[in-house]
Amino acid sequence: MTRVRGRFAPSPTGLMHLGNARSALLGWLHARAAGGEFHLRIEDLDAGRCKPEYVDALKRDLEWLGLDWDGPVLVQSERALLYREALGVLDAKGLTFFCTCSRADLARAASAPHEGEDGPLYPGTCRQGPTKARHPASVRFRAQGGPTSFVDLLHGPYTQDVARAVGDFVIRRADGIAAYQLAVVVDDAQSGITHVLRGDDLLSSTPRQLQLYAALEQPAPQFAHLPLLLDEHGKRMAKRDGSSTVAYFRERGLGPERLLGLMAKWSGLTDGAPITARELVPGFSLGRVSREPAVVRDSLT
Ligand code: GLU
Repeated sequence: MTRVRGRFAPSPTGLMHLGNARSALLGWLHARAAGGEFHLRIEDLDAGRCKPEYVDALKRDLEWLGLDWDGPVLVQSERALLYREALGVLDAKGLTFFCTCSRADLARAASAPHEGEDGPLYPGTCRQGPTKARHPASVRFRAQGGPTSFVDLLHGPYTQDVARAVGDFVIRRADGIAAYQLAVVVDDAQSGITHVLRGDDLLSSTPRQLQLYAALEQPAPQFAHLPLLLDEHGKRMAKRDGSSTVAYFRERGLGPERLLGLMAKWSGLTDGAPITARELVPGFSLGRVSREPAVVRDSLT
């Protein structure tokens, strides 16, 4: 049987948010309960928003929570060559094209009925060749039409027609840097990741990623998209809200066991009593994780 290899792949654009910490905890529990490995990858391709100090802070928070990882930490900004190789493979198969459309062009071309699930549906402007001379060009993947389906380990079957929902999607940005969709697939494939546990907000990205796995002839991992954490108003916990970070807790003198207890409660695993990460491992299974978004009503201090 293949050994379970999980991963946590945060973007260091801020301090670790409770939603991210919970994804890390559940990914770690899933891997450790199966006697498997857990890997850490820093997704820092958005150089304008990522900061080295947040990488250090992420590691410190994981260590504080007792969530250890195996092997070296992978850093996406150091892996450009791998992404370029994958682009070459896709290009050789005729699955890519250059696109010179700006965001404004695409917004103008989009009309309400064609709105895709992830922003405006790409209207195919540059499919037959770039439409502007000497304009920075992104590279798009020719989306395959028809249903792309998978069985999410928490949500069950999920199907999307990528060509109709988002259209041809960007895999290399106009600044030459690999786009998230390509980098995440190349990295998870290269690391032999068997299970991807991540937030629900990425559910609709997965069919695109499955098309890339197929085009690169790589086996796809299994996916579990975790319900979001909602604040007491039923809204997604704001990423920028400093009071919903792990650091906020720690700085107020609360121990990691208290936060782990709350995260276990929000996931439907326990009644919330303080607990260590190791103590949560025995008996953990994804089947026990709540499928409903958790409304955080507990006092966070
Ligand atoms: N880097 C992404 C984030 O922090 C997660 C990507 C993934 O888990 O696939 O939201």
